[in-house]
Amino acid sequence: MSRNLLIVLSGPSGVGKGTIIEKLLKRGDYALSVSCTTREAREGEVNGVSYHFVRHNEFEKLIEENGFLEYSNHFGNYYGTPRAFVEEQLGLRDVILEIEVDGALNVKTAHPEALLIMILPPDENELRARLKKRGSESERKIEERVKRMEYELSKRDKYDYAVINDDVDRAVVEIENIVKENKNKPGKEQI
Ligand code: 5GP
Repeated sequence: MSRNLLIVLSGPSGVGKGTIIEKLLKRGDYALSVSCTTREAREGEVNGVSYHFVRHNEFEKLIEENGFLEYSNHFGNYYGTPRAFVEEQLGLRDVILEIEVDGALNVKTAHPEALLIMILPPDENELRARLKKRGSESERKIEERVKRMEYELSKRDKYDYAVINDDVDRAVVEIENIVKENKNKPGKEQI
């Protein structure tokens, strides 16, 4: 019997995770977890769709209530995966989390059966250069983001798989094949 999987996707900023996830959702029956965050909504982001935007004290209350499967503090803001949604959906279908590496590794420690996939750029130097050029942010912010990219990439060996986003459709098919292969592996029950 195949089992439902907890699929954790990570990768540096600008690598194209969003487009890959959009395509996966169109092609298959996945639930995408909507995270809670204390950061401000950016233009165009919709509460409940992009994130659940919550206040600092609300987030801390949820931590106390064990409301998160994992959470972490990233660039001064909290981000967390609502536990109830994931547990409920896993009974029905595969669930995708799009989270950064620290949270992903915490998920793996608590739930070794989770499938960790890191999305990599075809050319790291090109992505580094692109992050430096992007937007109208201060030098410090840009430097922070490039450092973060190096940190995320340094954790790739801890992931179960690394998928290079050289062509988005190809990368999507590769992820689908990884999922298929793992669904049929005998393993421990999910959470
Ligand atoms: P952004 O603020 O650009 O939307 O996201 C910043 C980082 O937070 C991204 O790397 C994203 O993957 C990560 N992130 C989003 N939601 C969660 C979450 O629930 N938990 C963790 N640990 N990271 C998250």
